[in-house]
Amino acid sequence: MRDLAPSISSFVKVSSIRWRNTVTISSQLALLSIVLHAVSVAGASAESISILWREAEKTIGVPVLLPSTPVLPVSSHLSVRFRPLGRGESASTETHLRLYIEEFSKYPRSFTRAVNLEWVAFVKGLEVSDYPRAATYFRFFSTSTMASGGGMVYDVQQGASNETYVRWVLHHEFFHFVDDHLNRGGAEDRAWTALNPKGFHYTGVEAPSTGFMDHPRSGVITTYSMKSMWEDRADLFAALFVETAYPRLRQIVGADPTVRRKIRYMMRILEQLDPTINERYFREQLGESLYSLTQGQ
Ligand SMILES: [Zn+2]
Repeated sequence: MRDLAPSISSFVKVSSIRWRNTVTISSQLALLSIVLHAVSVAGASAESISILWREAEKTIGVPVLLPSTPVLPVSSHLSVRFRPLGRGESASTETHLRLYIEEFSKYPRSFTRAVNLEWVAFVKGLEVSDYPRAATYFRFFSTSTMASGGGMVYDVQQGASNETYVRWVLHHEFFHFVDDHLNRGGAEDRAWTALNPKGFHYTGVEAPSTGFMDHPRSGVITTYSMKSMWEDRADLFAALFVETAYPRLRQIVGADPTVRRKIRYMMRILEQLDPTINERYFREQLGESLYSLTQGQ
């Protein structure tokens, strides 16, 4: 966890990529490929992966790519590199698909549609600008309408043995995708930064992780959040969806009014994007007592 957390990627922005129609075809080709070459390893099999694959696409409603070549259906000139999954990753692929289904099914379909999530890819050896990453994403904006689209890339080798970490990364990186949709140009959300305590400044540097939710100072739940508004928001978003983090979140929320204000602000952002992610939704997701705690002044 300590070594992995800093590898959650920040922004990778792409403009004007046109490949949308290839996604379904790629998905089918990739499915065929992995069914052909994946064999039973460490308890996972080609059959169990293909079942999970179909379940993931059916449950979440977004094409899943398991690329069989080191190329995604987006431009390859970017500084994003990876290797296709092989038979050695059968077990971790199965784990990631299972956790992806569990975690992304917490989002209403209307939410992934609202931010135009078009595909999710699982790979290994993911690097962004030569640094290993647990995840990254591609976001593009139409030059004529500014309509946004894109997809997520997750590395199945990173943190495969720590399910809480994998769940966290799934949500954390997805919120960067959401945030990019919200900002469409990288403008900082001043209303958010104004929530921070007086004199607070994000460090701007990739902080080493000291563990999840170490609450290094008032207003931020992790040391990783200290880097920027973007990481702060992504970690707070993840904390709202990973149930194993709730006991620690409850402690922080109970003690820190700034975190409570940020959570309420986050809830408003999400409801504006998708009205079904509303008070009722969070009462159910967080449970009545944790939800009530977030609403305290
Ligand atoms: Zn991040």
